[in-house]
Formats: sequence, structure tokens, C-alpha cells
Amino acid sequence: MAEQLTPMQIAQSQLRAAANKLNLEDSVLEMLLEPQRVVCVRIPVKMDDGTTKVFNGYRSQHSTAIGPAKGGLRFHPGVNLDEVKALSFWMTFKCGVLGLPYGGGKGGIEVDPKKLSRGELERLSRGYVRALADVLGSNKDIPAPDVNTNNQVMSWMLDEYSVINRQTDFGMVTGKPILLGGSKGRNEATGRGAVVTLLEALTKLKMDIKGRTVAIQGFGNVGSVAADLLWELGAKIVAISDISGGIYNQDGIDIKALLEHTAQSEYVSGFAGAIQMPGDQVFELPVDIVIPAALENVLTEKNAPKVKAKIVLEIANGPTTPKADEIMAKNGVLVLPDILSNAGGVTVSYFEWVQNNYGYYWSEDEVNDRLTKKMQESFATVWDMMQENQVDMRTAAYMVSVQRISEAIKLRGIV
Ligand code: NAD
Repeated sequence: MAEQLTPMQIAQSQLRAAANKLNLEDSVLEMLLEPQRVVCVRIPVKMDDGTTKVFNGYRSQHSTAIGPAKGGLRFHPGVNLDEVKALSFWMTFKCGVLGLPYGGGKGGIEVDPKKLSRGELERLSRGYVRALADVLGSNKDIPAPDVNTNNQVMSWMLDEYSVINRQTDFGMVTGKPILLGGSKGRNEATGRGAVVTLLEALTKLKMDIKGRTVAIQGFGNVGSVAADLLWELGAKIVAISDISGGIYNQDGIDIKALLEHTAQSEYVSGFAGAIQMPGDQVFELPVDIVIPAALENVLTEKNAPKVKAKIVLEIANGPTTPKADEIMAKNGVLVLPDILSNAGGVTVSYFEWVQNNYGYYWSEDEVNDRLTKKMQESFATVWDMMQENQVDMRTAAYMVSVQRISEAIKLRGIV
């Protein structure tokens, strides 16, 4: 029978694998298996037609053992409590792998933002902050953009929070516009960090990026940046899919031309420089590298046996099920785990928060250099842990993170 685990069950199974290896105390494991705090809110919004609609909102704070909760806010009709909890869980371990002074948080609103006017979207974003103002703050829980949210949503949230507290607290959200305390390099940070991770892995495998073939699912914020950087480095991106379907060009897709196309028509479908292909085949193509950069739970026991790539670079959160992990490990596929590969975004969010606290701002080169260094150091730590313990890279990443978090939990006397 096909495995049908929820994102939270997947996250818990990943943690248990690392906990077993580390002989983690039961009390620490108990603390980490579920979020520390979950808040569910109802957000009434006055719609343009005079009616009032009520939306479900969530915020999950998985752990604050190492510092304030940190994590994105997602607007999507499929948002639910289980998913938000799992995403906050992954944030804890992501911050732990990178050694950032944060715990994990995540939020979401069940909404299709494409169906709202700009005014309705603003009232919804402000309503979310009003409902959760008590648990948010630069030293409590710091949201950031995620699927379908952006720096405009962060600006409204910053303003609402500042109105409530009668002072501007720039560090209460990250992913802000530069003018409102945002960091240079933040928009590209997740894609850039993922590419650094991939380059480190290629170096270990004695492979060059030039001419490597790549297939990508997702051409949004992170997928498009990663594609662009890889294209500039000489990789050949032969296939890309998004919600509209897939496109393929065996000689490599011209990413700059595709970016121009999506700036006009939003989706990859209809791009003149490639042929159409079914989007769900993107992971099964004979390429060197596949990159899930859209959704969770997309590499499963069904398609994992068909993965021909040598490397899976996880940019989406939670794209691989535990069964798929097992299958790909057996087949010698190196999976670069989400909690390491996509941590560039939260790392530059951390830099943004540091700059807000200092009131002093860095150049883009400085941000990118610091990001590259942090990703390289974290990759090396995880790689060494993998070699020393003969585990897969995901378990190694969790082991690095769990060691740090459990030490903080014990030092604070929580258990
Ligand atoms: P986005 O909304 O900008 O882009 C999402 C992309 O996925 C779009 O191209 C969309 O068409 C595609 N997509 C949606 N449904 C699909 C489907 N059924 N099949 C194929 N493609 C589909 O979001 P994003 O910010 O690029 O985030 C993508 C993933 O990366 C998410 O899992 C997110 O949690 C993760 N992530 C994002 C960041 C960040 O900084 N934005 C950081 C870490 C992780």
C-alpha cells in the first residue's frame, strides 16, 4: 500500500532517525516531536463588495530553545494546521544546522490570494498581525515571506505591528523592502544558498557544474533564481515545470529568455524556446541533477525508483517522503536535504535582523560573501557528520542540529 504520511509525520520520522543515532534522551525527544505553541485564529476581513469574510490563520512556534521563533508566512488555499506545524518543525532544525540564534516558527492563512483585491489582501495581512500581536515580535517570533507572500505583505505587517505597539520594530519581520530595513540580497538568498550547497557537493564528488544537465520543478521566487545562477555557471537546464505544466529543451533552456516570458505571462507554459512536456515527469528525466522547488511530498515511493539523477537538490520544504529517501539512498542518489540546501533565505533573514538591530546596513557583496561562507561551513559540518556516522545526508543534518538544540534545552534546564 502506498505510504500516506502527513508532513508532520514525515518530519517526526526524520527526527527519530537522528535521535536514534544520537541516543537522545526521551525527554528532549518529547519536547521536539511537537511544537511548543500553536495558535489558531479567525480573521474577519471587510471585502470590497461590503460583505465580511472570515479566514483561518495559524502560527506554530515549534521551539524557542535557542532563540525567538523564526519562519515564513504562507497564503494558500491548502494551508492547514498539520502543514504549518511541520514547516515550523523544519525551521527549528534548519536554524540549528546553520547555527543561527533562532528557533522555528511558521504561519499560514487558508486563502487564495489571487482571488483578493490589493485592498482585501492588505486588510487580511493586517488582520493576521492584530490577531497574533501578543506572540509576535523581534525577540519572540519573526515572520518572513513564503509561498504567495512578499515584501509588500511584510510592509503591511510591520506597519500594523508598529501601530499596535506605538513604535517601529523593524526586526519583527524579515524579507522587507530595502527602504523599510530589508537586506540587500534577501530576494535571491534561498536560490543562491542552494546553489552554493550544490557546488560544495559537486566538489566532493569531483564533478564540474559546467554542462551538467538539470531538471527543476517550480519557477517561482526560489526556482527561478536557482535556475538563473546555474545557467550563468554553465549548467544546462533541460526541463522546468510549474503549476501550468512542463517545458523541455535538450540543448538547454535559455533562462534569461524564460524569465522575460514569465515576467509577461507568469507561467512557463507557452515558452517559445522549448517544447511542452507533462509537468509530473520532471523528476524522471535522464539528467545529472533534479531540483524540487515547488511543493512538499513530490518525491514518493512511486517516482523515487525512476529518479536517474545523481543529485537531488531540495529547495522546496519537505519534498521527499521517508520511503523515497530510502529508495534513493539504495540507488546511490545523493539527496541534499532541505534543512541545509534551502537555508540561505533564513540566513539572510538573520543578517537582515542583525542589520536592523545595529541600524547599519551592508553592501550586497558583503551579504553574499557572508551567506556563501555560512553555507559552505554548514555543508562541511554536515558532510563530516555523514562520513563519521555512515548515515544519509538528511540524518546527518538533523544530527548536527539536534545536538545543538538538545544542548541548549539542557543548559536552560528545560528538561
Ligand atoms: P512561489 O510561490 O514563488 O513559487 C512556487 C512555484 O511552484 C511556482 O512556479 C508554481 O507555479 C509552482 N507550483 C505550484 N504548484 C505546483 C504543482 N502542482 N506542480 C508544479 N509546480 C507547482 O514559492 P517559492 O517562494 O519559490 O517557494 C517554493 C518552495 O521553496 C516552497 O516549498 C517554499 O516553502 C520553499 N522555500 C522558499 C523560501 C523562500 O525564501 N522563498 C525559503 C525556503 C524554502
